[in-house]
Amino acid sequence: MSEITKDYEFKEIEERWIEDWKDEMYYFGERSDEENFIIDTPPPYPTGDFHIGNSLNWCYIDFIARYKRMKGFNVMFPQGWDCHGLPTEVKAEETYNITKNELTREKFRRICEDLTSKNIEKMRRTMIRLGFSIDWSREYITMLPAYYAKTQISFVKMHEKNLIYRDKHPVNWCPRCETAIAFAEVEYESRETELNYINFESVSLKPSWFYVHKSSICVHIATTRPELLSACVAVAVNPDDGRHKDLIGKKVRVPLFGQEVKIIADEEVDPDFGTGIVMICTFGDKQDVKWWKKHSLETRRAVDRKGRMTSLCGRYEGMKIEECRRAVIEDLEKEGILIKREKIEQNVGYCWRCHTPIEILSEVQWFLKVDKEGIIETARSIRWMPEHMFYRLKNWTESMDWDWCISRQRVFATPIPVWYCANCGEAKVAKVEWLPLDPNNTKPKDPCDKCGSYEFIPEKDVLDTWMDSSLSAINVAGWNGENEKEIKPTQLRPQGHDIIRTWAFYTILRTRELIGKKPWDTIFINGMILGEDGYKMSKSRGNIIPPEEIMEKYGADVFRLWAASAGRPGSDILFRWEDIRSSSRFIRKLWNVFRFCMIHLKDYDGEIPERINTIDSWLLSELHKTVVEVEGYMEDYSFDDAIKRIRSFLWNVFADNYIEMVKSRLYEKRDNSSLYTIKLTLDVLSRLLAPFTPYISEEIYSHLFEESPQRYVHLQSYPDHSKIPFDERSHKIGEIVKDLVSSIRRYKSDQGMPLNKEVNLLEIHDEAGVFSEGDLIDIKGTVGAREVKILRAKPTFNRKIIEVMPNMKKIGPKFREDSKIVAEKLREMEPEGDTVTIEIDGDEVELDSSYFDVKKEFLTEKGEKIKLLPIRDKVTVAVVV
Ligand SMILES: [Zn+2]
Ligand SMILES: [Zn+2]
Repeated sequence: MSEITKDYEFKEIEERWIEDWKDEMYYFGERSDEENFIIDTPPPYPTGDFHIGNSLNWCYIDFIARYKRMKGFNVMFPQGWDCHGLPTEVKAEETYNITKNELTREKFRRICEDLTSKNIEKMRRTMIRLGFSIDWSREYITMLPAYYAKTQISFVKMHEKNLIYRDKHPVNWCPRCETAIAFAEVEYESRETELNYINFESVSLKPSWFYVHKSSICVHIATTRPELLSACVAVAVNPDDGRHKDLIGKKVRVPLFGQEVKIIADEEVDPDFGTGIVMICTFGDKQDVKWWKKHSLETRRAVDRKGRMTSLCGRYEGMKIEECRRAVIEDLEKEGILIKREKIEQNVGYCWRCHTPIEILSEVQWFLKVDKEGIIETARSIRWMPEHMFYRLKNWTESMDWDWCISRQRVFATPIPVWYCANCGEAKVAKVEWLPLDPNNTKPKDPCDKCGSYEFIPEKDVLDTWMDSSLSAINVAGWNGENEKEIKPTQLRPQGHDIIRTWAFYTILRTRELIGKKPWDTIFINGMILGEDGYKMSKSRGNIIPPEEIMEKYGADVFRLWAASAGRPGSDILFRWEDIRSSSRFIRKLWNVFRFCMIHLKDYDGEIPERINTIDSWLLSELHKTVVEVEGYMEDYSFDDAIKRIRSFLWNVFADNYIEMVKSRLYEKRDNSSLYTIKLTLDVLSRLLAPFTPYISEEIYSHLFEESPQRYVHLQSYPDHSKIPFDERSHKIGEIVKDLVSSIRRYKSDQGMPLNKEVNLLEIHDEAGVFSEGDLIDIKGTVGAREVKILRAKPTFNRKIIEVMPNMKKIGPKFREDSKIVAEKLREMEPEGDTVTIEIDGDEVELDSSYFDVKKEFLTEKGEKIKLLPIRDKVTVAVVV
């Protein structure tokens, strides 16, 4: 057994336990008869950096996993890795100084896989150091065939159910990533742009008309995207806008490009925006898509997949969007058809990965049907913590304008298991039993269903990575592609609020469609960590604190304790070093208390005392209460409250009061009652703290039960409050004695007496009859008195007046030149009641007690000096020094 060092040597202790603990301690037992508690742990993207936000979220998960295990649940805390995606492709290109097109798909994929494996290894190390009780036998890695086979099976099954289809449809497109993206991957931000008023030449209005209707002489449209003039397919006005009523049905010619388009009416045109006349292009924004669908307009494509202007744009062909915009404006100005420009704020969609403004392009893509009502209904049957997060999902779902675009034009992702017939173009979807496969390396085993040809062209597109990760819940629940009926919802999904519209949304959608159930009973949403400057931690702000830095300085337990106590789970948390230091002080205090106790416990043989001292019984009652409350907080995942409660017990009750009260007993004799109490308290404390601070808890527990064959605290059950005696009477007395002891200590220190000096006699005037004779013995040692007496009456002592002190502030203004005489007379008096009568110049004057202070002394019958200390209502203590 290791020696108990003066300071808590976290480095040595953490390394030792990491070495000593077995992975099997946290394995999920499949045939266990305990109730399952399955956690749908987030599979992080393997960037190689398990950042502080992850760490906070995983701390919460680990608190829950460890708590539930100790409460007797069969806990599954699996760990997945959501590997696919663009960032790794970009990193691979940078690292090896290549572009993905220089290599075969196969080779490029391999490079991405290697990079990912290294990153996973790095992140795993941080997670192990942080003490997470992950079941590593349940690890899943989405880039491996074992996992992506499931993604492909889900694709085939959903295709069979007609939930997945291929269609040409406008999609959100990132011109930099050169791929379609989903709505969830578009981030809207406000930016300043210019609204351009452009004169469209009328085709069907005769010149005379212009004179008659002077106010609407020309058709002035207002647009923020003049570079899309070539894609203009209609002009629209609001039918209720009297100014433009006559325009409806007429035609205009688009400047610079010359196509003639119709003026149509639509209620959604905002008459207050610009001139109230807008152009509809394919596609400037989501609204254009709506109008395009509703009015069955043609499609004119001005932007290609790389974000350059197409041949439709004539001499602007090949220009980048911004470049084209500048050129078009210049030309419009030259032609005199740009009437004016004004600055406006506009919401623009950006690619969430690379922050490039997105375009809406009409593309042939794979889509997954979104049943909005069904998703909301399922989401409603899940418990949301905190509750209001449900509305984020609901609002998001309601705002979706079209189905989920699931195909991506990338390489490092799950291949879409589809080929196209080279002869007739018919799509051939793989059979479940052929999976996993990459259509680029395999051929279908059957001929084309339509024409019988054996010639196929593989699908080059891959699946959105959310198609992988949205299976996480049914994957950890044991779905193998065919056992839908057996799969039950998992118990808990912990995740951040930033991925409600992606991971939560897609998981609900997919689980509902694949197994017809909700994915989880409860979804627990955690907040973000803000840097010391109050902003979300980000590289660009330079306010990132890596968890390793905190662990190096203070250890993993301090980090975890900080995570538990820094704020309410669900709310954003502000990082402050001050809070880290406060957690560090807690660990130090715990260690010091433990060390002190162990000095005395080393001789304790574990014998249970026949009688428990009142003060010990008080402590155990306090411990009982603590366990009840902490357990309540743990059930609500209110970790901050749980830690606050444990802290106040450890610090105020156990260390500052109890140990001070029993010190003399501990030093004087082998006192089984206090030793038993201390050992039980440390045992319970180590188990209450085990979910939060696994290392120090294990260290304490292992010293307490050196001989025990099952010495790991993490294999013990949660403290059972019913096994810790709560005694009402002892509790009440203990509370009084606690106050009594601190009163006496204060008195001693006021008198300049050493704190360990015994007083001669302590008389407890207990009018309420709280104390019994039996309590005396216990109190005697606790307060440090040679003799303790209990009297059932108000104290009555001989009072001796030592001095009367005149209050000159009151006497002065009233008696002026006589003040001195009044003061002298008062000094000579021995006032009995609240007033005194004195004689001034033959007049009798009555003075109340505000004119003087009386310094009294209480004396025993023998004439010994006494100090009276009021403790509570009807309890006073007389101390004879
Ligand atoms: Zn992008
Ligand atoms: Zn065919």
